[in-house]
Amino acid sequence: MTEGRIAVIGGGVIGVAVAAMLALRGRRVDLFEREGIAAGASFGNGGGIAVSEIVPLSGPGMLRHVPGWLFDPEGPLAIRWPDLPALTPWLWRFLRAGKPDLVERQARALAALMDQVYRQWQPLLAAAGLTGMLRRNGAITVYRDRGTLAADRFGWALRRRHGVAVEELSAEDIRDLEPALADGFVAGMRTPDWGHVSDPAGLVAGLWRFAEGTGHATLHRRGVRGIRPLAAGGELLAEGGETARFDRIVIAAGIWSQALCAGLGWRVPLAAERGYHVTLPAPGVALRGMVTFGERKFVATSMDMGLRLAGTVELARAEAPENWRRADILPEMAKRYFNGLHTQGGSRWMGPRPSLPDSLPVIGADPRHKGIYHAFGHGHLGLTQAAVTAAMIADQIMGRRPAVDPAPFSIARF
Ligand SMILES: Cc1cc2nc3c(=O)[nH]c(=O)nc-3n(C[C@H](O)[C@H](O)[C@H](O)COP(=O)(O)OP(=O)(O)OC[C@H]3O[C@@H](n4cnc5c(N)ncnc54)[C@H](O)[C@@H]3O)c2cc1C
Repeated sequence: MTEGRIAVIGGGVIGVAVAAMLALRGRRVDLFEREGIAAGASFGNGGGIAVSEIVPLSGPGMLRHVPGWLFDPEGPLAIRWPDLPALTPWLWRFLRAGKPDLVERQARALAALMDQVYRQWQPLLAAAGLTGMLRRNGAITVYRDRGTLAADRFGWALRRRHGVAVEELSAEDIRDLEPALADGFVAGMRTPDWGHVSDPAGLVAGLWRFAEGTGHATLHRRGVRGIRPLAAGGELLAEGGETARFDRIVIAAGIWSQALCAGLGWRVPLAAERGYHVTLPAPGVALRGMVTFGERKFVATSMDMGLRLAGTVELARAEAPENWRRADILPEMAKRYFNGLHTQGGSRWMGPRPSLPDSLPVIGADPRHKGIYHAFGHGHLGLTQAAVTAAMIADQIMGRRPAVDPAPFSIARF
C-alpha cells in the first residue's frame, strides 16, 4: 500500500515530464516503465519545439494530397495495407475531423496549449539544469514548387488567424538563413518562435535524473497490465502479478495507453502514426534552425549527434515489423536538398506517434474514475507539449485550476 503516492505509467517524454513536474513541486511519484526511459516515440523524434504547429492534420490543406502520396514511394504518407481493416474506424474519424468548423475549433485548442509551451518548459529545464539543450532559432519550411506552397496556404492562414508569427521568405532569404541548403527553393515560410532541442532522448534522460535527484521520484522497471479503479485512485496490476495501490494514477503510456484505458471502459481511437529517422553522424553541413521540406514533409535538425532527418507517416500497427525503406528514402531525398551532404554511417530508427483523429491529445482527470488522469495521444507534438501537459496534470492533482482549460482534451469527447 502506497497511500498518498502518485503512480505515473510510461517513461516517455510525457510521463517523465509529469513525474519531474510533480517532483519539482514536492510530490512523491512512482514511475512504471516496462522498457527504459525514452524507449518509445520519445527516443528519436525530430527535436522540434513546434509551437507554431496548430494546424490539425485532417483538413483542407492535407486531404487533397492523400491519394497521390499513398502511391508515391517517396511520399510522406504510407499505409501498411494488411492493417487497413483495423485502421478504418480511425481513418473515418480522421476524415470527419477535417470539417472546417471542427478544424477551427481544434486549432483554437492547440493554440491555447502552444501558448504555454515555453512558459512551462523553461522553468522545468532550468530546475533540471537542461536549459542549454533548448535552441530558439526558429524554423523554415522551404518549397521548390509554388503549387505546393499554394496548397499549404490554408494552414499558413490558419496559423496567422490564431496569432502565430509567420514570415514569407524569398529564395535569397532562404540562402541567407540556411546556407547549407542547395539552390532551387523558390519560396519559404519562417516561424520564428519555433525552437528545437539538441538531443531528444538525452533531454528525457536528464529530466528523469533531475526527478530522481529530488528524492521524490522512483523508477520501477516494470510493465503495468491493468488498473482496477477504487473509490479514489486504483490498484495497479504489474507484469509478474504484483499489485500496488495509489491515490492517483497518471496514464502516460503513449500508443499503449489505449489498452490501459480499455480496461477502464474507454474506447479511445488511438492509432500509431509511425515515423522514421536517420541520423547522419558526420553530415558535413549544419543548420541554424529546423528545416521542413514542403514537398516531402520531413524535417532536418542539427543535433549533438549529427544531422537528424525525421518524419513521414506510416499508418500501421505499433508492433508491426519496420519498413526500413521508409527510413532509407530520407537521406536519398535530403541529398537533393543540401550542398555536399555526407550520408555515410547513418543510424535508422522507427517510433510510434500516439495519434488521435482530431490531432488533440487526451489530457486531464478521468470523468468517471476519481484519482485517474490521462496524458497521452500527443501525435506529432509530444515533445513540444510535454511540459504543458505535465503542468496541467500536476495542477489538477494538486487541486489548482490549470493554466489551459482541459475541456477540449477530455477522454469523454470520443
Ligand atoms: C519521426 C518522429 C518525429 C517526431 N518529431 C517531433 C518533433 O519534432 N516535435 C515534437 O514535439 N514531437 C515529435 N514527435 C512526436 C513525439 O515524439 C511523441 O508525441 C512523443 O514522443 C510521445 O511521447 P509519450 O511519452 O506519449 O510516448 P512514448 O515516448 O511512446 O512513451 C511511452 C512509454 O510508455 C511505456 N509503456 C507502454 N505501456 C506500458 C505499460 N503498460 N507499463 C509500463 N510502461 C509502458 C513504453 O515503454 C514507452 O517508454 C515525433 C515523432 C516521431 C516518430
